[in-house]
Amino acid sequence: MIKKINHVWLFFTDRCNLGCGYCFYKYRTQSQVIALKTFENILKFVRPMAPMEFVFSGGEPLMDAARLKEMIAEISGQGLNRYMSVQTNATLLNEELMEFFLTHGVNLEVGIDGDETTTQRNRPGIGPYYYADIVRGVNLVLRSQGPYTTTMVVHPSGAAKLFDNLKYLAAMGLKSIEVHPAFLEVWDKAAAGVFLDQYRRACAWELKEGRHGLIGRGYSEPSRGAWDLLSVPSGKVLANWLLLSFPEEVRECLYLMDFSQGPSGEPLAQAGPYFKALQEHLAGHPNCSYRSISNFNALQAVKTPPGRRYEERVRAYIDLCEQIEAIDHKIMGATAWQP
Ligand code: SF4
Repeated sequence: MIKKINHVWLFFTDRCNLGCGYCFYKYRTQSQVIALKTFENILKFVRPMAPMEFVFSGGEPLMDAARLKEMIAEISGQGLNRYMSVQTNATLLNEELMEFFLTHGVNLEVGIDGDETTTQRNRPGIGPYYYADIVRGVNLVLRSQGPYTTTMVVHPSGAAKLFDNLKYLAAMGLKSIEVHPAFLEVWDKAAAGVFLDQYRRACAWELKEGRHGLIGRGYSEPSRGAWDLLSVPSGKVLANWLLLSFPEEVRECLYLMDFSQGPSGEPLAQAGPYFKALQEHLAGHPNCSYRSISNFNALQAVKTPPGRRYEERVRAYIDLCEQIEAIDHKIMGATAWQP
């Protein structure tokens, strides 16, 4: 079971040039980049399971483009990947990097939340011109005709603009947009209700326009009973991206492995009960969605003593996710759906 891994998710840098209010990797030091030795230790561990799916994230991966390119070339050169993706805010994307990604068949997953007003509010960043930089990066991706997906994060304060923002992104020419409620923000009943109303309208519009698939629904599809090997820059491993949102005192209870010292991948003692629970959950629910696995992990985080203070927010988020998934399942089984 320890070898049943879905993605190798390398959060290899915690440096970022933006400062999104809802950042899912909230407790970054802004100074850590994975050591090459640690990366090689991870490759040694996953090599017997290859080919695998690799996702590079941060922070902003393009802040450390040289290390990113080294890692992509290494994985590609060794033939370890069946898929590679880079999650990016696109502000630092340029022609040379785009060419590199195309050459290596790398998917780009670009974060853009909608129009300028929404994005300015969600992602204050470090400079006045970054929205134009995001749009420039998105257009570069579109012109390249390479593989891409986009992620639109919805903050509770902006839920009423979800539908408008989705249409705005579609009008930019984007064809695959995942819509996510921001994790660990306050999704009270009112905000969740607005989100769901807007999401239903967006789904109905998607079908009416004959654009089935515009809204990405990968998170609602059955998973493969596997966990994610997610490494932070230090080489410590978590099983899911939602766990990144918690402070270090919570994550310390949940780190499964540590690749900074070697490639053994032996489970760390302190996470033993959690890892056992995760494996039992995956074995017992082989067809549950990726979203559901993520939420199971978030619930384990709030069971740790330092994680208890997040319980109310996590449970409200999970309630919302379950309703999103119910809508997604109706859409996935229908060609003419009415809200
Ligand atoms: S671009 Fe990503 S890593 Fe950077 S602050 Fe925003 S959400 Fe966090």
